[in-house]
Amino acid sequence: MTTTSTLPAGITRADSHLADGREIHYYDTSGVVRNAVDRRPAEEQSPIGELRHNALLNDWVAVAAHRQTRTFMPPKELCPLCPTAADADTLLTEIPESDYEVVVFDNRFPSLTHPSSDFQLPHMHGLQSQHIEAAGKCEVVCFSSNHTGSFKELNESQVRVVLEAWRDRTAAMATHEHIQHVFPFENRGVEIGVTLPHPHGQIYGYSYLPIVTQQMLNAARAYFAANGSVLLDDIVAREIAAEIRIVARNSEWIAYVPFAARYPYEIHIAPLRSVALMTELDEAASKAFASVYLEVLRRLDAVFGVDMPYIAAWHQSPLREGHDVMRLHLQVTSIRRSPDKIKYLAGSESAMGAFISDVTPEQAAAQLREVVLP
Ligand SMILES: [Zn+2]
Repeated sequence: MTTTSTLPAGITRADSHLADGREIHYYDTSGVVRNAVDRRPAEEQSPIGELRHNALLNDWVAVAAHRQTRTFMPPKELCPLCPTAADADTLLTEIPESDYEVVVFDNRFPSLTHPSSDFQLPHMHGLQSQHIEAAGKCEVVCFSSNHTGSFKELNESQVRVVLEAWRDRTAAMATHEHIQHVFPFENRGVEIGVTLPHPHGQIYGYSYLPIVTQQMLNAARAYFAANGSVLLDDIVAREIAAEIRIVARNSEWIAYVPFAARYPYEIHIAPLRSVALMTELDEAASKAFASVYLEVLRRLDAVFGVDMPYIAAWHQSPLREGHDVMRLHLQVTSIRRSPDKIKYLAGSESAMGAFISDVTPEQAAAQLREVVLP
């Protein structure tokens, strides 16, 4: 049973379910009908994991032992993210259709998943806690049906479909009362820990505020109280005035190396007319995103002429608080510091969260600006 909805930019979403009950959503521009049925036997879904309170940091850890059996770097003929070939004797993948543009489905090995009953995250001040379900949602986003592609090789209209899928999933996750924060991201490269080569990203819906989001919220609130203005708006204004760290820009977006970049290559991309959540981007901003993001990814890979490992992380406001002070932006960070050297997050970074960088942000921005794009 498939239901279809209309999204901006002539995109449609078709909703269906896989054999084990997980959701799958197809995002298309062509109006094609999506009615392929998942022919795999209905397996039990992974059991829900557990949230444990890390009292030393007042933070949460999701414990999901079932994830150890995940597929690791399969060849193309065993790729679970490729479409299922029409001649049915081959592998039945996660995507029953024989082709797709962008598809989103529930992760088969989720670290966070739908709780069994009314979920309430306890306020923890002591060490006593009962079993707490690892409530939330983990989705996989396939950017293209092309097994060997990469995000930077998408064209602008394909990027628009991905953006609409991210926006649509943010809105959909907001309807789940137990979800507090939505995080779309892409890990790229084995150096980052990618386990499937097919170009894809993930969306996590957390039932708590991750510690970095909580820290950003605290900083944004303190800044607003002291200055009466929104922190990210003032950061963007500073970067525009300084010019020296700008990497790319267009009428709606700006990409810059932040003043205090923590990674050898770190680029933040923000809409010039700021919004709290992805769902609030208007047509002009949504349309203009692809050109600036593709330029950033191409510049990043051109710095050393090799594919850079990166994490592309959307930071937005928590769903239920902070809309007055938190602002949407995308952070792209790479641990490659030279053609043959990786910056490992060692003692100071991993144990203390204290970053030490040996590339100045101004140097990195100049390198990114000056590369000749193929
Ligand atoms: Zn594939």
